[in-house]
Amino acid sequence: CGIVAFIGSREASPLLLDGLRKLEYRGYDSAGLATVTIGEKDQDDFVTCKRAKGKLVNLSELIEKEGAPGHLGIGHTRWATHGKPEEHNAHPHRDNSGEVAVVQNGIIENHTSLRKKLEGKGVQFLSQTDTEVIPHLISHELDHFLANGSSPSRSLLLQAVQKVLGLLEGAYAIAVIWSKTPDALVVAKRQASLVIGLGEGEFLCASDKPALTGFTRTILPMEDDEIALLTPLGIELYDIQGKRKDRSPVVLS
Ligand code: GLU
Repeated sequence: CGIVAFIGSREASPLLLDGLRKLEYRGYDSAGLATVTIGEKDQDDFVTCKRAKGKLVNLSELIEKEGAPGHLGIGHTRWATHGKPEEHNAHPHRDNSGEVAVVQNGIIENHTSLRKKLEGKGVQFLSQTDTEVIPHLISHELDHFLANGSSPSRSLLLQAVQKVLGLLEGAYAIAVIWSKTPDALVVAKRQASLVIGLGEGEFLCASDKPALTGFTRTILPMEDDEIALLTPLGIELYDIQGKRKDRSPVVLS
């Protein structure tokens, strides 16, 4: 099980697949990835999500056939803890609008009560995982901000994720994308590992360092209860209260 996330000017899906391959040693039963795809002409930007049960080759064949264009994306290899290893339980998971996509490594302990509350508000769950509450919760926060007159922005996405992390119990690492912010990726973690790899105007995040081999030797390991907003321009690091943090990356020898 592992997560990867990429933002930059190169195509995301080959880099995500390569990162996932390098995390295969952690074990998994299914895999998936999601990208923000830029809409053509009058079409809005949208999330493309591809998932497959079994080996990574099933996912890469699916992507070869159907494509997953975009310069921003998240990927996952799943070791099922909640919900059978089936395609509909594979990550990424999305909200009901399909605009928010999330991958999660770990366990959300209080998912049952969160799920009940969301179902009470009319949310339709499409999987049996603990993870699916996260995109729905983020989407609710975003809708709330937008209804109060805010325009979509990366700081809105950051604030929404920050609020939702306050509701989650458990040990996890997550990566989040939103189709309305094709220049922003949000990652966070608590008691699970997550490392940001710094390239030239691009970032590759992963559960573990081996996934960054060949991409960069400059890394920023995340600490518990940190949230990072990544854009092609740089990293903004925050604590769970939204206070800015500053820490220098390290160069692996
Ligand atoms: N608990 C999550 C699930 O079952 C994530 C498992 C993992 O870390 O792969 O979907």
